[in-house]
Amino acid sequence: MKIDLSGKTALVTGASRGIGESIARALGAAGAHVFCAARSADRVREIAEEIGNATGVELDISSSDVREKVKALLEQKPIDILVNNAGITEDDLFIRMKPEAWTNVIRTNLDSAFHITQEVVKKMIRARWGRVVNISSVVGLMGNPGQANYAASKAALIGFTKSLALEIGSRNVTVNAVAPGFIQTAMTDALGEEARQKLEERIALKRLGTPEDIANAVVFLSSEQASYITGTVLNVSGGLYT
Ligand code: NAP
Repeated sequence: MKIDLSGKTALVTGASRGIGESIARALGAAGAHVFCAARSADRVREIAEEIGNATGVELDISSSDVREKVKALLEQKPIDILVNNAGITEDDLFIRMKPEAWTNVIRTNLDSAFHITQEVVKKMIRARWGRVVNISSVVGLMGNPGQANYAASKAALIGFTKSLALEIGSRNVTVNAVAPGFIQTAMTDALGEEARQKLEERIALKRLGTPEDIANAVVFLSSEQASYITGTVLNVSGGLYT
């Protein structure tokens, strides 16, 4: 199965590192023009240059002018594929969690998806073609101690995904979520060998995921081949959660 996204334009938030960078590179390799967005403007410009058919965009998804910035992008090119990937954690035990930690995580992980998606899908609906992929987490399905704010934001993204899928399916716009498990990133690299082995024991496939494992799922959900899939949550966790 060859996935060809040539002629399509994608916006990937949080494309400056980790999973988002990998998604941007994979969509670019499949032929899409990619808007690589993040706060680290220099880094997304570098990545875009390496991809070739791409543009680096400075975008803070938690800022009050996020809609204006997205509107400006849409004036350059209509966006066919939206990947709401950027996300943060501010972990603490619930009893100690500061209101700011709750608000920051909900604003960045959830409110941003509302603002950005609302602007982008208007044009998808008019074009009668679109793909929205929201990056959730298995933590949104199973919970995790110390992550009440993060788990709430990721579970909410799933409800958002399913509701929007039902609203705009008739316009040939699909809306899906990907729920990664433990993915090899700078954060997991910093774990000691023992902690890493303990994590791997909990995973059926006995390894952490790679950013590419997630990017492959996103490219598939963005493709023509996934045109009959909407409102679903694709769990990419190596069997950490089934
Ligand atoms: P990461 O390495 O920490 O990267 C986060 C990305 O989001 C960066 O590109 C960062 O760019 C961007 N970002 C953060 N706040 C932003 C803001 N206000 N505006 C714009 N961009 C912002 O994270 P990751 O591990 O790749 O995770 C990516 C997504 O997958 C997240 O939604 C995360 O919750 C989800 N996820 C990750 C794992 C995992 O094991 N890693 C598991 C499940 C789900 P700048 O700092 O340059 O803005």
